[in-house]
Amino acid sequence: MQDSRAAGGSSVDAKRIDVVASIPFFLMHLMPLGIFWTGMTLTNALLCVGLYVVRMFFITAGYHRYFAHRAYKLNRFWQFVMAFGGGTAVQKGALWWAAHHRDHHRYSDTELDVHSPKHGAFWSHVGWILSTRFHHTSFERIKDFARFPELVWLNKHHWVPGALLGTACFLLGGAGALFAFFLSTVLLYHGTFTINSLAHVFGRRRYETTDTSRNSFLLALITLGEGWHNNHHHYQASANQGFFWWEIDISYYVIRAMAWLGIARDVRVAPRHVVLGTSKSARTARDGAGAPEPAASLPEPAAPVAPLAEPATLGVPTPAE
Ligand SMILES: [Zn+2]
Ligand SMILES: [Zn+2]
Repeated sequence: MQDSRAAGGSSVDAKRIDVVASIPFFLMHLMPLGIFWTGMTLTNALLCVGLYVVRMFFITAGYHRYFAHRAYKLNRFWQFVMAFGGGTAVQKGALWWAAHHRDHHRYSDTELDVHSPKHGAFWSHVGWILSTRFHHTSFERIKDFARFPELVWLNKHHWVPGALLGTACFLLGGAGALFAFFLSTVLLYHGTFTINSLAHVFGRRRYETTDTSRNSFLLALITLGEGWHNNHHHYQASANQGFFWWEIDISYYVIRAMAWLGIARDVRVAPRHVVLGTSKSARTARDGAGAPEPAASLPEPAAPVAPLAEPATLGVPTPAE
């Protein structure tokens, strides 16, 4: 299996778009045009918004904060629900998504970053998804979750949850509901992608991280909290990305509700001194006395070939215990 590091290593000088493989992605952008044929009812408009919000939650709280960063724990059933729910967003499988995202943090804004805006706005937003090099899943990056066969199956058949949801929309609401599903999916794509592109370009930088991440209230609103991206790069293991009460973070509020209901456990938040600290002092404090970091959150040395440490050796609890 091709390694994403080797693949990503040439990302700067080889941004070839795989037009044929990207046809489903292009078609997805054409399907909402069917609304001009069916018209848009209030019900279908609400369906479109509802599907956007719910699936954005599965992407941010599931694919991102749970699978990529292990910011809290779930049992195996709820872990599957998160992976399936994220799959309905048609952004490939949780293992594929989280493995690439771990690479983003590992090589943020370097030559090896999967989708740094330094490689161009188009590339960071959508080009890397259309390219030939990132179709595979680097299981080496996500071996902590790749040991669950149901997640591997979902990762391989990643189109299944989205197809089931689209079919359900059609059966229950007709063609208009199906086109609302497609419109919602496209909006969801680009809402998610803004974090890879705009959240590294627009907004304020509270922490002097080694990357270009920024905090944006607007992006946080449309991504249910992911817009506090500078906070997130500063302390990746935290389940909350809004560090202060005015930093709205809907996904985190739901995670807290899940914890209250007994669904989520061991919800991790950034220690207060890390939240208040500058980059240097916070890093020192975190490395010295902070909570253990998941494998994907470790500060990386310059050498791109350094393998990830096994989570077990870091004292990080295994998922779905
Ligand atoms: Zn980032
Ligand atoms: Zn992240």
